[in-house]
Amino acid sequence: MLKTTRKLIKKTAANLNISDDVLTRLLKVDKIHEFEIQLKSGKKFKAYRSQHNNRLGPYKGGIRFHPEVTAEEVEALSILMSFKCAAVGLPLGGGKGGISVNPKELNIDEIEELSRAYVKHLHPHIGPDKDVPAPDVNTNSQIIDWMVDEYSRQTNLETVASFTGKSLLKGGSHGREAATGYGGVIALNRYLELKNEQNKEISIAIQGFGKVGKFFARRSRPNWKITDVSDSSASLQNSQGLDIDELIKFKNDGKSFKDFSSATATVLKSNQIISADTDVLVPAALGNAITQNNAGLIKAKIIVELANGPVTEPAFRILDKKGVTVLPDIIANAGGVIVSYLEWQQNLNHEKWPVEKVESRLKMYIEKAIETVYSVSKSDKVSIKEAALRVAIKRLI
Ligand code: NAD
Repeated sequence: MLKTTRKLIKKTAANLNISDDVLTRLLKVDKIHEFEIQLKSGKKFKAYRSQHNNRLGPYKGGIRFHPEVTAEEVEALSILMSFKCAAVGLPLGGGKGGISVNPKELNIDEIEELSRAYVKHLHPHIGPDKDVPAPDVNTNSQIIDWMVDEYSRQTNLETVASFTGKSLLKGGSHGREAATGYGGVIALNRYLELKNEQNKEISIAIQGFGKVGKFFARRSRPNWKITDVSDSSASLQNSQGLDIDELIKFKNDGKSFKDFSSATATVLKSNQIISADTDVLVPAALGNAITQNNAGLIKAKIIVELANGPVTEPAFRILDKKGVTVLPDIIANAGGVIVSYLEWQQNLNHEKWPVEKVESRLKMYIEKAIETVYSVSKSDKVSIKEAALRVAIKRLI
């Protein structure tokens, strides 16, 4: 995924005649903080925070707890965040952090100790006008609440604008949970409107039925029929349309699709979702899900990238040649960072907005981004994906 992003940025920059010097500066990370955390028990972990670029505003990006977190990974993800914020017009820069840890091997007290230790080390370098972290893989609002509290202890600043993704009671925003999935719905709908196809009946396959995939399905338009969904164990199919509420309840009970036994769906292999006979395919699981090995199997005409980097660069070239439109991750899945930005704004102004206000602003950002890249793709005769990178690169430069 990370290689793909860099490759696409380099290719787009070359097409825009951007000099090597400027490109090198664009890809250069301002600062990477690398340190070790030792818990009272003696267990040690490597921790990182990458701050890529703050020319548009404070660094912004998640903190993940995962054994495979490395300096290279957070660095590349922080670059992606700068491009994402720029593509949707947020006054924010790109950051990303993480701790190389398997949180399943720690008890709750150790996770709190680890979260607080991370902030104890980093507090001089983060804060409401410097770098505003958020949750990411294996981190959640409870972890962020601990981090906010630690930040206040260390700095004596009584602010909740130091992090986003907090619990609602501690300054979090309404609408955060659904933001990424709903943002994907807004992006697809606006694209269809621009093509005057918004009233057509369309069929959709969703790979991955976690936080993002579920909310995409739940917030889909009435004339969109979800006929295929998958998790890592199996995919489910019903050409008449699946019962989304039934599937959400099934997943919320902690079950896997391979154990789904109801007349409302046929159970197929997980990877069969890629070749589903639908108009739209929504990869909402992992990076690199669509590669040169399976791109040829895709029947969908539109791909909505809800995961980060689900389509590799060689796969993208195959799809582009076949006339498949890819609505890129830096816009299609930007709903999360947009609502994070709105949470930060609410905190700075000591306000709490109703969900309707949050979602109308989310809609405004995503729709504007889709309209801009649609028009650039027409005027520059490039794909929507390349147009999105062109817009982001120009704003960053
Ligand atoms: P999640 O862990 O809640 O859900 C992931 C889903 O993908 C699960 O249903 C899992 O079973 C499924 N899955 C895993 N491997 C699979 C496979 N090989 N085939 C089919 N399904 C598979 O994660 P999430 O928060 O929904 O995030 C999904 C993707 O969206 C990730 O790539 C994440 O980086 C990206 N993303 C998430 C957010 C957010 O706000 N959560 C924001 C931007 C991007």
